[in-house]
Amino acid sequence: MEKTRCLIIGSGPAGYTAAIYAGRANLSPVLYCGLQTGGQLTQTTEVENFPGYPEGVDGNQMMTDIRQQAERFGADLRDGIITKVDFGKRPFTLTTDSGDIIEADSVIIATGASAKYLGLDDEKKYNGQGVSACATCDGFFYRKKTVAVVGGGDTACEEASYLAGLCKKVYMIVRKPYLRASDVMKKRVEENEKIEILYEHNTLGLYGENGVEGAHVVKRKGEADEERYDLPIDGFFLAIGHKPNTDVFKPWIDVDETGYIKTVDGTPRTNIEGVFAAGDCADPTYRQAIVAAGSGCKAALEAERYLAAKGL
Ligand code: NDP
Repeated sequence: MEKTRCLIIGSGPAGYTAAIYAGRANLSPVLYCGLQTGGQLTQTTEVENFPGYPEGVDGNQMMTDIRQQAERFGADLRDGIITKVDFGKRPFTLTTDSGDIIEADSVIIATGASAKYLGLDDEKKYNGQGVSACATCDGFFYRKKTVAVVGGGDTACEEASYLAGLCKKVYMIVRKPYLRASDVMKKRVEENEKIEILYEHNTLGLYGENGVEGAHVVKRKGEADEERYDLPIDGFFLAIGHKPNTDVFKPWIDVDETGYIKTVDGTPRTNIEGVFAAGDCADPTYRQAIVAAGSGCKAALEAERYLAAKGL
């Protein structure tokens, strides 16, 4: 059976950065890329807020660059998904989707989170052409334009407020007759003149020749006074929650009520010694590439120290 000192799961900024640090520390890390090699950034167009790229960088290109940096220091990057783990004995054992079993002295979980979408075909059709699930990443491209944010939680209110600072007009498409968000966030969007909340609205589809030009919406769907109309917008932002990709670890690793991995405050340590978590899978709050990269670095340093302390 194959054995490694450091196994990294996930290939976003957290996983690749952990691989750079673990590689430079001579841990010969093995990294499984997961479902989406390169992670969420491969779904965005341009990244303008990652330090070191004054002109911005294509998300795919940036992930390719970080990948090459990890390979340069000897990280063994592999396609594949971890489908099963046993953190109950040491070394830990992990099973891949092709049935390989690998033993690891330390594990860094960097499996990220996936934005939830409504499930409309048009979301796929216009992905990167008017559809986004990250206002901080893409809001800048909609300066002085009209956008809609879907959702009525804290994230939606936060994204709508952020976009209102850039855009001409922001609609919030909220399916219920009220916002689920906290009072302070509710007040913030209600008092913002640029934000108009469309309660009891659902989205049926999107339209546009070259990118999004509007949304087909329905008000009070299924009621006697149901009303369908087209809402002209340039951007359609999803803010209906994220799902951390942590299901496979749940039998062993403590997670919060929404599935995010719980770590010891300020560190990437989990409830299992020798297993660390980095990036969005353990971060319900910031969800930024630079934060994920930083936590990947921390996780690799922690793994290195753990292995040294245990003489592994
Ligand atoms: P939430 O689950 O709180 O809210 C999701 C929102 O999306 C709800 O309004 C929900 O509607 C709506 N929604 C879900 N599915 C659909 C759908 N299929 N169609 C239309 N609307 C849909 O997620 P958030 O990401 O907003 O927040 C997650 C957690 O993070 C919360 O605990 C939140 O408080 C916290 N958070 C805190 C922040 C802060 O304090 N600054 C900032 C951001 C998040 P419905 O209400 O009808 O279910």
